[in-house]
Amino acid sequence: MFMGEQPGRDPSGVVKKEDFMAHFAKTLERMREEGARHYDKDYSDPILQNAELCAQCGGKCCKRCGCAFSPDDFEDLSFEALKTEIEKGYITIEVVDGDQFYIAGFVLMLRVRNVGGLVYENRLYNRPRGQCILLTEHGCKLDWDHRPSGGKLLIPGEGGNCQSRYSTERALREWEKHQGVLIRLSHYFDEKEIECTL
Ligand code: SF4
Ligand code: SF4
Repeated sequence: MFMGEQPGRDPSGVVKKEDFMAHFAKTLERMREEGARHYDKDYSDPILQNAELCAQCGGKCCKRCGCAFSPDDFEDLSFEALKTEIEKGYITIEVVDGDQFYIAGFVLMLRVRNVGGLVYENRLYNRPRGQCILLTEHGCKLDWDHRPSGGKLLIPGEGGNCQSRYSTERALREWEKHQGVLIRLSHYFDEKEIECTL
């Protein structure tokens, strides 16, 4: 075993379905003990919007990665409703190694897909990072109301010193209680090639 490899983990980062099921059972058990998390979000705080600064910057945040969704961003979290939204091709189901956030096991969450990325990214490492699929030369294709919480709760700062009020860790903790539907969706979208139609 090389330095950095972990027992029981495929070094390529590809996550096996049986590993998911074992970790899902663990996640449910822990959630029963801890209770589900939810974070209040105030999208109306004027500090969150600075069109001039963001125009000057040209969207460095959007060139790094698509932003994270909160479950609050969807009116209907049923399998059918999320499937319909994901079939538009702008959302990716991402597998995150919860260990880095002191969360046991793998956790699935939704974020906006990156250029060159898949709708279901069943790997922990070597995922394509880079520009969000919804970034255009005129900015984001989504209007403010339809942007994910990760985008709306980012405080623009001078020199790219921007602060997030909705971190990946918060997203994971909110998505934890929806792992059942996300696992079903990950199986449904596994290896499907879908074009972004937005
Ligand atoms: S939030 Fe920050 S990184 Fe993103 S466009 Fe605005 S200034 Fe640039
Ligand atoms: S969805 Fe919009 S705000 Fe979020 S990363 Fe993509 S282009 Fe940027």
